[in-house]
Amino acid sequence: MMNICDYHLCTGCATCMNVCPHKAISMQSDKHGELHPVVDMANCVGCGLCINRCPVNQDTERLEPRKCLAVWEKSLNDRKYSASGGVAAALYRTVVSTYKGIGYGVEWGDELKAHFVRANEYHLDALKGSKYVQAIVGNIYGQVKMDLYEKRTVLFIGLPCQIAGLKNYLHKEYANLITCDLLCHGVPPQDYLVKEIKSLIPSKHLKNITNCRFRGNDKYNYWLTLWNGDKLLYGKKAVHSYYLTGFLTSITLRESCYHCKYSDRKRVADITIGDFLGLGELQSHNGTPPQNISVVTLNSDKGVKFWDKVKSSSLQQEERAIDEAVSGGGSFRNCATRNPKREQFLYNYEKYGWKKAIRKSLWKSILKAKIQSVFNH
Ligand SMILES: Cc1cc2nc3c(=O)[nH]c(=O)nc-3n(C[C@H](O)[C@H](O)[C@H](O)COP(=O)(O)OP(=O)(O)OC[C@H]3O[C@@H](n4cnc5c(N)ncnc54)[C@H](O)[C@@H]3O)c2cc1C
Repeated sequence: MMNICDYHLCTGCATCMNVCPHKAISMQSDKHGELHPVVDMANCVGCGLCINRCPVNQDTERLEPRKCLAVWEKSLNDRKYSASGGVAAALYRTVVSTYKGIGYGVEWGDELKAHFVRANEYHLDALKGSKYVQAIVGNIYGQVKMDLYEKRTVLFIGLPCQIAGLKNYLHKEYANLITCDLLCHGVPPQDYLVKEIKSLIPSKHLKNITNCRFRGNDKYNYWLTLWNGDKLLYGKKAVHSYYLTGFLTSITLRESCYHCKYSDRKRVADITIGDFLGLGELQSHNGTPPQNISVVTLNSDKGVKFWDKVKSSSLQQEERAIDEAVSGGGSFRNCATRNPKREQFLYNYEKYGWKKAIRKSLWKSILKAKIQSVFNH
């Protein structure tokens, strides 16, 4: 077996698989459900490209934010299905309508697996919303490269480790590429979500699920909900959901998320978006902003120029001090703290599988939350 990088630091960004000229690398689930590269030694010629381009081994340039904004779509309806202020959707609209370009982001695919996709104007709605799970990168970096060669403007939104992966894969600057990273406290492996959903819904109804949501500017903010089109099939508040509680309390994140080097104010992308936590705490704020406001930092010339085109009458925005965003938003400063129950969860996952492992770790806190909700009514 060949190690491309330190196993615990591997983010599963799939740069190694994408750069391998001999297609000798595939991403496979390990005993904890995490995707890791596996090298087929029969096809490997030992060129070392995978090792040299891996973002764990080869750092990506970091940019100090130049401008910080609080931003939200004025109309609640326009950001109904967005996790926060609806900025990602506005960025996609701009690249497609103003630049006649292409957006890359994450949608739900078969068996409700989140994966990266190349999207034109007909596809943008599927990208709305944060999918709190590790999305499959597949061969998407290669598709981005094709678009860049053909001189299309490309907007790529993803987690910082995936932006670093894309940049190391491309290995050169492209004036027509705009990157946007999300503030991120970590991702659970895809296997956990798939197994959780299978345990919640009778198998004959699984094929009817078209969407899974965790956040939104509607009453389902911080709920796990499953949908068939507009029809709600299942819904549980985060505090009653094993999957979401495991994610939010950092029991179930990928191992590398506990060592993440991108949880920093210096960013790998031209633009950074996240939740504006702590808005108004260091600097007074005029009026009462609505819930779920986005923070936007513009980190490069390209980011600043692109944002000039994004500004639209439907967006409300205010310039704020970057220190305010950094002091409120933990993901600008620290990576996720390992939950004390993490080791117990992993041990049980190997022994009993997802459902028993997560329920053994969380049954007391979920029961407590359920009892509290009865008394609070
Ligand atoms: C796994 C994860 C963890 C996050 N953790 C934090 C955090 O700790 N603090 C914080 O402030 N913000 C965090 N965010 C960002 C937050 O959820 C919002 O995405 C952000 O505030 C922007 O909101 P929005 O309304 O503009 O866009 P959204 O409607 O959330 O859209 C975000 C865009 O990101 C892309 N995307 C969605 N899911 C994924 C995924 N799994 N992997 C890669 N790209 C994806 C899609 O293309 C989507 O259009 C996280 C997001 C994700 C996906």
